[in-house]
Amino acid sequence: MQDDSGDPLDQWAGPSGPGPDRRRLLRLGAGAAAAAALAGCSAVGRSAGAATGTPTGAGAAGPSAPPSTPRNGPATPQSAQPGQSGQSAGPADWAALAKDLQGPVVLPGDSRYPAAGQLYQPQFDVLRPGAIVYAASAQDVVTSLAFARRFTVPVALRSGGHSYAGWSSGTGMVLDVSSMNAVSSSGGSATVGAGSRLIDVYTELAARGVTIPAGSCPSVGVAGLTLGGGIGVTSRAYGLTCDSLTGAQVVTADGRIRQVDAQTDPDLFWALRGGGGGNFGVVTSFDFRTSPAVDCAYGFLSWPWSSAAAVVAAWQAWAPSAPDQLWANLHLLAWPDGRLQVTATVNYLGSQGELANQIDRLAVRPATVSLHSASYLATMQVMGGVAGWSQAAAHLPGTLPGRSPQGRLTRESYAARSDVYTRAISTSGIATLTAAVQRYAHTAPQGGSAAVAFDALGGAVNRVAPGDTAFVHRDGLFIAQYIANYPDPGAGSGPAVEQSARWLQDVWSAMRPYTSGEAYQNYLDPQLAGWQQAYYGANLARLRQVKQAYDPQGLLRFPQGVPGA
Ligand SMILES: Cc1cc2nc3c(=O)[nH]c(=O)nc-3n(C[C@H](O)[C@H](O)[C@H](O)COP(=O)(O)OP(=O)(O)OC[C@H]3O[C@@H](n4cnc5c(N)ncnc54)[C@H](O)[C@@H]3O)c2cc1C
Repeated sequence: MQDDSGDPLDQWAGPSGPGPDRRRLLRLGAGAAAAAALAGCSAVGRSAGAATGTPTGAGAAGPSAPPSTPRNGPATPQSAQPGQSGQSAGPADWAALAKDLQGPVVLPGDSRYPAAGQLYQPQFDVLRPGAIVYAASAQDVVTSLAFARRFTVPVALRSGGHSYAGWSSGTGMVLDVSSMNAVSSSGGSATVGAGSRLIDVYTELAARGVTIPAGSCPSVGVAGLTLGGGIGVTSRAYGLTCDSLTGAQVVTADGRIRQVDAQTDPDLFWALRGGGGGNFGVVTSFDFRTSPAVDCAYGFLSWPWSSAAAVVAAWQAWAPSAPDQLWANLHLLAWPDGRLQVTATVNYLGSQGELANQIDRLAVRPATVSLHSASYLATMQVMGGVAGWSQAAAHLPGTLPGRSPQGRLTRESYAARSDVYTRAISTSGIATLTAAVQRYAHTAPQGGSAAVAFDALGGAVNRVAPGDTAFVHRDGLFIAQYIANYPDPGAGSGPAVEQSARWLQDVWSAMRPYTSGEAYQNYLDPQLAGWQQAYYGANLARLRQVKQAYDPQGLLRFPQGVPGA
């Protein structure tokens, strides 16, 4: 086994010669990902993907669809306005709101407006919010919600802006919590502002020798991630992000600032652990139990396409049942140049020797292996595609809250769908899957790329009962994403986008006989007809009761928002 040190991207080479150049990897990774296709943070690895169908008729809080994208169809958009029962006090007086807030309000015409309106994916730049309100405190949130009720303005909540479907923007008020980004920790717990980006969470906590299990992408917001679950490279050891949650400060639709935990507002606290962002209130800060930020061993594996079926079979028998310290993904890749390949990224909370022993248990030997050791923070930087970058650089560029003048991250558009697999894929299912990836390679839009990405579950994730938190997917072996990267990363429409959407529908449909029917609520999928059951399963009824209790008027709503009971 090769033991490398240095930049993993420079070390990595595919079996058919040197790997794609660094910039191509970054692009393929839908946005951040240096280790992109290799590690967990990309459309390929961290998986991105607003399904091409942005919500249409999304009504209150939903963005309008970029031209000629597929319609939202069965996602049942809700078109009523918030605060529906009340009369509007007339046209929204944004100037008056701005005077009442600590944080800035950015309106159309302001030079900051184009950047302030952006989500992670450029395909949603067509959205034109009435105002972007940067709440600086819980009191600002209270004032903003009262304003929304008074003027019947739709509200979309935004933290990191990575909603796959663009549902953290819309036509009314974007209520952005990025300014509330303080991170502190002591005595085994941490308090994290709801607007914190993951790179800031990892960096600030690692400085104190602790961490929380979270996702791989530096620019993802802690709010959306936590509220929908939160999977990442330490999930099998430390659980989901929401499993470490011990309390939260929430402003509910009635304007009350609540400090919730297992004793106070226990049903709301339950719903915040996996019930999905944007549903039950505006979280302003999270309290987490911390875990040790230990040194890691990580590595990159690759196989030729001829081994794809055998590798899938071996991987699914290996990763979900490995020791908790091990995490692995698996990627079936169709590169822009038409090449097909199989890669995996592995991480181990322990030594390189222990990691090598685990890899030796994988039934199909990789053609290439490179292993590395690093501190916890350095490893998370690799997984996020920002190895060696400063904390400031690992942000989107700019001076608005959540960005950094030194920021070097770029945005990317893509489309994706997800499945939770609760049993191993059969031989015929694997053949179906690999054939679908090959079909992409034959029909792909010029310059486009695609992947099927598996993230191993099991371990600590599956030791929590499905009803203990709102995150119901507790018997999964792995979460799969089918991802199509647009050749033009900014595109939200056009023939290449439609071609990508067709392939996603093709692979997703082909895999129906082999999946559980569950889907991950953090990978919002506007094309998913049975989303309520797929995201929430047996927890749906209780979630609806919580919605009814804490937001009976439906002030917070979006096309796949949990409805009241
Ligand atoms: C590039 C990329 C990488 C990703 N990597 C991972 C990963 O490694 N692991 C993983 O599990 N997931 C991952 N995801 C999915 C991610 O968890 C979800 O997209 C998540 O919802 C993003 O949160 P956000 O705050 O950045 O997004 P936002 O778009 O700001 O918010 C997402 C949802 O939460 C709501 N929301 C935002 N702020 C608040 C608040 N303060 N209170 C209540 N609701 C709020 C929004 O209204 C929206 O519905 C990734 C997504 C992308 C695009």
